[in-house]
Formats: sequence, C-alpha cells, structure tokens
Amino acid sequence: MPADLLVRNARLVATMDADRRELIGGWVAITNGLVSSLGSSTDPEPEAGQTLDAADGLVTPGLINTHHHLWQNLTRAWPPMTSAPLFGWLQSLYPTWTANIDEESVHVAAWVGLAELALSGCTTSSDHHYLHPPRAGDLLAAEIAAASDLGMRFHPTYGSMSLSVKDGGLPPDDAVRDEEDILAESERHVARWHDASHGAMTRIALAPCSPFSVTPELMRRTAELAERLDVRLHTHLAENAEDDEYALATFGMRPVDLYEDVGWMTDRTWGAHVVRPDAAEVSRLGAAGVGIAHCPSSNMILSSGIAPVVDLRHAGCPVGLGCDGSSSADAASLWQEARLAMLQGKLRSGAGAMTARDALDVATRGGAGCLGRMGELGELSVGSVGDLAVWKLDGPAFAGVLDDPIEGWLRCGPTSAWHTVVAGVPVVREGALVSSRLDEMLAAHRRHARRFQPS
Ligand SMILES: [Zn+2]
Repeated sequence: MPADLLVRNARLVATMDADRRELIGGWVAITNGLVSSLGSSTDPEPEAGQTLDAADGLVTPGLINTHHHLWQNLTRAWPPMTSAPLFGWLQSLYPTWTANIDEESVHVAAWVGLAELALSGCTTSSDHHYLHPPRAGDLLAAEIAAASDLGMRFHPTYGSMSLSVKDGGLPPDDAVRDEEDILAESERHVARWHDASHGAMTRIALAPCSPFSVTPELMRRTAELAERLDVRLHTHLAENAEDDEYALATFGMRPVDLYEDVGWMTDRTWGAHVVRPDAAEVSRLGAAGVGIAHCPSSNMILSSGIAPVVDLRHAGCPVGLGCDGSSSADAASLWQEARLAMLQGKLRSGAGAMTARDALDVATRGGAGCLGRMGELGELSVGSVGDLAVWKLDGPAFAGVLDDPIEGWLRCGPTSAWHTVVAGVPVVREGALVSSRLDEMLAAHRRHARRFQPS
C-alpha cells in the first residue's frame, strides 16, 4: 500500500528518536497520520500518493508549544502594559480582557496565534485558557474549532481563577468563578473533548492559573479530579520574585512547597516558567518527574530571570518550550524560543551546557514529556505521529554552514518553517499557510484587537 505522504530530498532528518538517529539525505513516509517508514539516501523510498520536496533542508519533528495564552495576542505591545513586571502587567490587562473576551474573539485569536505557530514549525500547541467570565460563552469550544479548521494538534487546558481582589487574590471580582462551578466545567470539558487514543488531535488538561488567583483548596481538588479522569495538570510555578513573596506572605511557604502541599508534585503535572527554584527544589522537582514549560522570551520581557533549565534537565524533569502569552513574549515563534533556550542555557550554565541538539531535544521530546506523550509526539519513528517541520538552510544567513545542519539551523537564521506537516497533512507549504482564510482572519483580528485596546 502506498504511503499518503513522502517527504524527501532532505539534507538531514533529525529523528530525535530514542537513539537520536540522524539520517543523511533522508526521507519520511506518513500513512494514516502516523510515520510508516523513514530512511536515509541509501534506503529505498516507498511509493506515495503525495510528495513534498524538503529542498535539501533539515527535517525535524514538529516543535511542541507547552505554554501559551492564545487570546493575549489581542493586546500585543499595548502601551499601558509594556513596562511592568508580572503583577503590575497582569493588573493593567485584567480589566480589558475580562470586559471584552467572548467566543468570537477567542476563536479569531486562537486561529491567528496557531497559524503564527505553524509558520514557526510548531505542530502541537497547548493553551492555558484561564479566563472564563460567566457571560463569555464556551471559550474552549471556540479555540478548539480554530485548531481543527487549521489542522493543528491541540492541547487546550481548562484553566481557572477563583480568588479575586476581595479575597486577597490578584484578578478583579468579575474575572473569577465559583469553585464548584469550575470543577463541574472541568469535568464537562474533559468528557466532551478529551481523546486519550494514540495519535489524538485534541487532549484536555486542567489548569488552575496560579497561587495568586486560585485557592489551595481548588488546586487540591483539581489534582484529585485529574487523577480520577486521568488527564494532566498545568499551572504557573515559581515565576518571579513577586510570586515567591506572595506565597511566603500568604501561605508561609515557597511556591514549590505549596505545589507539593496541594498534591501537585507528580509526573502528571507540568509547570510554566519555574524560574526561581533553589537547588534543593530543583532536585525535588526532578525526582518527582514534574514537567517544565520553559518560556525564555517571556521570562526576559517581564524581567523574571533565567530559569535553571540545564539543572532541571539533569535532575530528571522533562523540559519543553513555551512561547507564553502573546502580550508578554510577544512573538509566538518556537524556533526563536529554541534559540533563546540555547543561548540562555549557555549563558547560565556554560558554553557547552546547551547545544543546538539539546535545544531541539527540549523543543520536541521535552514537550512530548510535558504533555504525557513520549514516544508518540516529538520524534520521528515508525508509529509516532506524522508531525514534522522542514527548514530550508539557504540564503545569506546560512552561507558557511557546511557540516552540521542542526547547529546551523539554530545558530543562524532567524528562520521560519518551509513546510509544516501535522498528521501527514501540510499546514504550511513553501513558507506559506495552506489555508486560504489568513487575510479574512487577520482583518477580523484587527477589529477585535481594537475593542480590547481602546484608543
Ligand atoms: Zn503564562
């Protein structure tokens, strides 16, 4: 039986499989959404219904985004919020987000944000959607529809906020929901959308927002619910100094202690940022197998710090990449986050401590670990999902790259994906989005962004 798609004529296929095989002159065949065979130039290629020319470029598994807030691209580079650290930044944005968010704006923001990610070689994205004002409608359904229309693999989380200013939290009163309501909605969303099967396009995780916007009781009960439903757990963890100070003042403990206290110190969870753990906390996170969404752009823009990623990896944490919300990054390029992960790793831990291959490992296998899909996502091997990115290595930026296309890929650039393939279907082809709806969606996005950013 012929394959559905054959990607051929690569300079190198970086499989990122268990043996980290690199196939010179390689090809990848995809059938029924899964990798059906792959090989190097000396292996015979199969017949295929469709062929994609890798143009002598680098083929990698599709990159995985483990932390985002897609709707936040509606308030990008908005002057009132461009110079505060985390708490002030959030407080300047909560009112307009809460007043304006609805199904249509979330749908358009997710569509545009996922398109941007696809153009950067991303094939699977998570989304931490924690803002559900009661009047706003079914926002997860709105973003799942966007992912489905584009053909992106999607891990939205049912996020939550329950602790408002009047109860000692950070968000305004009309941004939060009742905790019984949150737990019921969490269960309803898992029942409606979560697909546990191999190769699933949609999976749901549960995601109370942060220690300063939910109660410890909600964290604890959400962990119990995730255990019962067998879904994953996500939240913000140890993001900056304000986060440390809030946890110490409010709970009498540091964020990692609180994480453990509410039953989250397990390999079912992945935390975003994790900039501030001390050495003992790094060891505890590693021993528990807690996943880490490393968000280097956001951590720099909000001046949060440089996360100890090399130490966390050595300790045993799966570390993936996150572009974080588009009001604090503000770009959503997984290639760029991978490059910054490499640069920050070298800066913090030594020039040899984070190579381009290490950063590619974080961008692919590490992300699969965070999402609980090792062996299925983040690698190219027979039976893994047919998600890949093709990167052209030509033009002035790559002149002089001769012997190591993987180091060249991340040291040079900036670059976007030449092709992005999800489940064997091109979402980006020859550097352009396959969908014909981009102009229409960008126009709609502009209208909604103006509502969110009153002039
Ligand atoms: Zn975040």
